[in-house]
Amino acid sequence: MTIRELYELYLKYPAVQTDSRKIKAGDIFFALKGDNFNGNAFAAQALADGAAYAVVDEAAYATGPQYVLVTDVLQTLQQLAAHHRLQLPIPVIAITGSNGKTTTKELLIAVLSAKYKTYATEGNLNNHIGVPLTLLKIKPDAEFAIVEMGASHIGEIASYCRIAAPDYGLITNCGKAHIEGFGSLEGVRKGKGELYDFLREFSGSIFRNADLPYLSDMARGIDEQVTYGTANAEIIGRATGHNLLLQVTILTAGLETQIQTQLVGDYNLANVLAAVAVGEYFDVDIDTIKKAIESYAPSNSRSQWLEKGTNKIILDAYNANPTSMKLAIENIAQLEADNKWLLLGAMKEMGETAAAEHQALIDLLQQLGLKQVILTGAEYEGTRNPYPWFATAQQLKDYLLQHPIQNATLLIKGSRGSKMETVLDAF
Ligand code: ATP
Ligand code: MG
Repeated sequence: MTIRELYELYLKYPAVQTDSRKIKAGDIFFALKGDNFNGNAFAAQALADGAAYAVVDEAAYATGPQYVLVTDVLQTLQQLAAHHRLQLPIPVIAITGSNGKTTTKELLIAVLSAKYKTYATEGNLNNHIGVPLTLLKIKPDAEFAIVEMGASHIGEIASYCRIAAPDYGLITNCGKAHIEGFGSLEGVRKGKGELYDFLREFSGSIFRNADLPYLSDMARGIDEQVTYGTANAEIIGRATGHNLLLQVTILTAGLETQIQTQLVGDYNLANVLAAVAVGEYFDVDIDTIKKAIESYAPSNSRSQWLEKGTNKIILDAYNANPTSMKLAIENIAQLEADNKWLLLGAMKEMGETAAAEHQALIDLLQQLGLKQVILTGAEYEGTRNPYPWFATAQQLKDYLLQHPIQNATLLIKGSRGSKMETVLDAF
């Protein structure tokens, strides 16, 4: 079956499902393969549960007219998504970067949805499966699409651009994340820069953080660049006040707008400014932009702000790398609050740089004069560490149940894998 023929089926049955346990009547089931499973083996069950068709890539499983046999199911899914994208006469904006993609995306959804019917990546579905699935969810009523693209190695963003064909792009930043796959910070810039490369080739436009000089180097040759930042940019904004929740003052055309966000951490300033820049560019008025940003509250342990008993907690247990750790630590260090505590887990996927980066973190904590710090995770073993340490978040939780912290402002942060949210049960 050609992609065009499959597309005809998709137009009749536009609900694509890759998880056989979630099949609903009329879905098209795509039998993907993973490290530990072969989707082909679940195709019959998917059809029995009501799927209209099952796309498989092993002839032995294609035993009837409801099976669509292809060479490679994943590739077919991607090609179908790319084909669908080309039929959509709407602007697509792609977001990549090391940190802040999802937060920026969520803020953009809030801002653009106020004026346009907007489709966007759900949650964090930003990989080789998530990108095509995001596109295939876009319905004919769409006026706008936002696609988050994550990457841990060279070539990934380029391949997602070929699927999503973005007209606009936004790189949040390039930091020390996924160093295992990219090799170095240079590698990260090259990998994320594939978004700029695509837009340069196809005359797209970008929204660029003017506070990050390397982005302007990477963006050379792109005609339309809308800039945002704390100075020397079209959209200028500053963090005002040192409260727990970020407050931003925006300057547009001589006009000042105050935005009281529900986000913790000054590093969110760039994410907010990005959303303002995109909103302004697409003619959302500044009051609507303000209201949209103010209404957005993060979830999923991503820079979440909680009050538990007598404690105020910044929970950031969703991910961590040297760049985001440094910013989060500096942020709590400059907060005007008494009795500050930092409960820090490990940073994963650091490859050979792991030992040095965990040491650098400890050095930073000491430089900033932070005393109430507890570390967890095997990655700190072998460092010169003056702070209390536990092997796991579970052990730290048990300790805190015996030695409760009260009337404190806490930062709890670590990579997803270090499960720092476990510690919350001690409060
Ligand atoms: P992922 O790679 O998991 O998709 P992401 O890029 O989507 O991550 P977010 O989920 O938005 O990033 O934020 C994750 C964490 O990154 C936040 O909790 C915060 O610690 C940090 N962070 C967010 N925005 C920035 C930023 N602009 N600069 C540096 N760090 C940031
Ligand atoms: Mg994300």
